[in-house]
Amino acid sequence: MNTFILTAYLLASVLFIVGIKMLGRIKLARKGNTLSALGMFIAVLATVIQVESISLIAILICILIGSAIGLIIALKVKMTKIPEMVALFNGFGGLASLGVALSDYWLNTQELHLKIDEITGISVALGIFIGGLTFTGSLVAFLKLNGFISGKAVVFKGQHLLNLLLLIMALGLMILGIMHILTPTYMLALVVASLVIGILVVIPIGGADMPVVISLLNSYSGMAACATGFIIGNYVLIVAGALVGASGLILTQIMSKAMNRSLMNILLGGFGQTSSSSSEADGSEITIKEVGVEEAAQIFDTASSLIITPGYGMAVAQAQHVIRELMDICEKKGVEVRFAIHPVAGRMPGHMNVLLAEADIPYDKLVEMDKINNDFASTDLVFVVGANDVVNPAAKNDSNSPIYGMPVLNVEEAQTVIVSKRSMNPGYSGIQNQLFGADNCLMLFGDSKQTITQLVSELKELE
Ligand code: NDP
Repeated sequence: MNTFILTAYLLASVLFIVGIKMLGRIKLARKGNTLSALGMFIAVLATVIQVESISLIAILICILIGSAIGLIIALKVKMTKIPEMVALFNGFGGLASLGVALSDYWLNTQELHLKIDEITGISVALGIFIGGLTFTGSLVAFLKLNGFISGKAVVFKGQHLLNLLLLIMALGLMILGIMHILTPTYMLALVVASLVIGILVVIPIGGADMPVVISLLNSYSGMAACATGFIIGNYVLIVAGALVGASGLILTQIMSKAMNRSLMNILLGGFGQTSSSSSEADGSEITIKEVGVEEAAQIFDTASSLIITPGYGMAVAQAQHVIRELMDICEKKGVEVRFAIHPVAGRMPGHMNVLLAEADIPYDKLVEMDKINNDFASTDLVFVVGANDVVNPAAKNDSNSPIYGMPVLNVEEAQTVIVSKRSMNPGYSGIQNQLFGADNCLMLFGDSKQTITQLVSELKELE
């Protein structure tokens, strides 16, 4: 590899590292994304000009087709569908690693009749195993998130034993591979085992735990890419794969903490099983108090502190801009306005932050759950906009609830809670919310964007 290529790879790696660091700060995230994309462009360019076995034209045609597909998907995808897109991209990343590992194995052992060295042997085995399970696991996550299959946990007797046996079999096959005695038949068995493990590990995971799975699969796709980097001797792929693998694992740890799951519990699979919950059973017994826009405006008019708690429904309604107007009006009246951000509100990490930033709501108004949870008790009014699971007290006081143990926002401690949603439909985890029947809770039914637009006009009239 010549000095020019190595320098390009080094530059790309530095851009990845600086970019990923910037992604951790909301203000710098866009710049970080651009820097990382530039790094990827340099890495692809440096790789393409080295290739001798395929014509440059063929590579360019493939790049054009791939880029066009990526561009169309990126332009068309709705913000609420990003997790599905990430799940699919992770899956294809895993499939690509599986493909490279298989073709390298086939070329060296079956066509050139060469003996592959230890490092390549380990990398091929890991590339196939991690790539395969990432592919099918991500497809199942995509199907669950998209509603093509039920989001509920699919569990059956002996599931853990079957997973364990398959894992032992895959490990055995990988060891054989590393010892260079892997025949094509064994290789096929390893591919099948990894594909089946991917499905079996994700099907028992219930809806509410899906964000952790997506971030874990993202990490797996990085590890598979890293193994692929070792197979084809591409340094920048090793660095990029390791970065994705490590950052995905860190995100998994942060999210599992936010959802009260241990990482080991996740790695073993079969967690978050949705059992019938007492909240679900009690759902019909909840007596709610409905409020109209005019009455709600009166309550807003008398409050001196307000915490807005957004959730997935805000994203569906695209209510962030009108919420900004509401914030401006309330602040003009001298009300202290803050936003309570739950780590898994919405359908992807940082979902609420991105949408509120889009409406130019200052970053310092967004307060994370841990920092704001003790402030609800001293707050006049909490306005829940399209949030459900993340404000469900069942997570604290109903040990039968599927979300029991998940940290939630203590909105019910405020003097008054107004909830904006369209109906009594449950949230992502499919369970009823006892908050809606609380004495201090008022339901403001309707699409959040329309309701808040009316609320803003009412408040303007009261000025
Ligand atoms: P939920 O999914 O629990 O609830 C959203 C609520 O929004 C629904 O009850 C729905 O009620 C309401 N809604 C939908 N459309 C509108 C609209 N147009 N106007 C007003 N309300 C609307 O959301 P949360 O944010 O509270 O919780 C997120 C859930 O998603 C958690 O269970 C989390 O684990 C899961 N999850 C999170 C991911 C992440 O990375 N953040 C990824 C995948 C899942 P109605 O139909 O009555 O209007």
